[in-house]
Amino acid sequence: MREVRIHGGLYIPDPDPPKEAHVELTTSCNLNCKFCYRQSWNERIGFMSEELFYHILDELEGFGVRDLWFSGWGEPTIHPKFEEFTKEASKRFNLGMITNGTTLMRKADLVSEHFSWVFVSVDVTDPEMYRNLRVGSSFSVVEEGIREVGGRDGADLWISTVLMRSTVDKLPNLIEWASEVGARGVLLSNLIATHPALAGEQIHAKVQPEEITRVMERVRTLSMLHHVRIVEPFFYYRTERRCPFVEEGSFAITFDGKVVPCLFTLHDYRAWIDGREVEVKQLVFGDLEEKGIEEIWWSPEYVAFRARVKIADYPSCNDCLLWEGCQIADSNEYDCWGNSPTCSFCPYYRGTVQCPRSYIARWVIGA
Ligand code: SF4
Ligand code: SF4
Ligand code: SF4
Repeated sequence: MREVRIHGGLYIPDPDPPKEAHVELTTSCNLNCKFCYRQSWNERIGFMSEELFYHILDELEGFGVRDLWFSGWGEPTIHPKFEEFTKEASKRFNLGMITNGTTLMRKADLVSEHFSWVFVSVDVTDPEMYRNLRVGSSFSVVEEGIREVGGRDGADLWISTVLMRSTVDKLPNLIEWASEVGARGVLLSNLIATHPALAGEQIHAKVQPEEITRVMERVRTLSMLHHVRIVEPFFYYRTERRCPFVEEGSFAITFDGKVVPCLFTLHDYRAWIDGREVEVKQLVFGDLEEKGIEEIWWSPEYVAFRARVKIADYPSCNDCLLWEGCQIADSNEYDCWGNSPTCSFCPYYRGTVQCPRSYIARWVIGA
């Protein structure tokens, strides 16, 4: 299906195939970060099978996908077949990865040689604060791996940082450090709280908080002085809505082969958005164990969903006066305009939350 009717009008979707896929090799991780999505979910932990991985590579290559990211809700480098998967995927795609960096030192040769982009999650450079957030990790171990990869030719190294109220005043230190370790840029994102205790850590709001305006002025100056790029999120809700996944021809695949439109709806979990609890339901448009990616991508449901996202045919819960008490907004299953599912409270849509992706890496280096 190549066209869709919305409110009596005819919407003709972008005829191109997707450009980028986020592939979740595993939902297992060697850390237990305080703010991880996995804190509030109850799904099984799993690893992508070899058979499914190679099937996915064939499907994506055949459909014209160019960029492949090892991402999702786990640490890709702990997959037992990580090395083999990396070598094969890099022959057929531009390869990117989001990693916690704990194994980077050991895997530096492989990473430098086969990846185009590596984003390492580091939120603060104070070792004590880092250890309290990234439970199970050590700043010095991660830093060693980062310096090793940052000092080599090959993969572009980025730092990916989640901003929180308790750590944001340390951001200038992190920018200076990122430059020193050889990072090309720092991708900043606001937090999606996945525990009630973290709800107060969300910085972005209806009006940009003054403290963040002050910190960001300093951060921008430092980024210019030290030649390290920063990619900022929005810190307040603008009227504009733009889904980075739908607009940039991107989607995600879970470790067990489900095709979902984005990382926000990769699995079922609970989140505390703008102070209230919501249920985020996994949004599956097909299963690669059963159907091909072309059939899933062009299915009437997925085409109509992307069309609605593009024309912002959803209410905006984030600045609705009824948000705190609205039961319709208890989950992304429904909204008050009759949509099901809905993107009505998604922070990616408002640009307050962002994740590593090719558009950022390419756009910033001007390729
Ligand atoms: S490294 Fe990532 S996947 Fe692992 S616990 Fe931390 S946030 Fe979760
Ligand atoms: S707007 Fe949000 S929920 Fe909807 S597809 Fe985009 S990232 Fe996913
Ligand atoms: S579903 Fe509608 S009424 Fe409820 S919070 Fe969202 S925008 Fe407001």
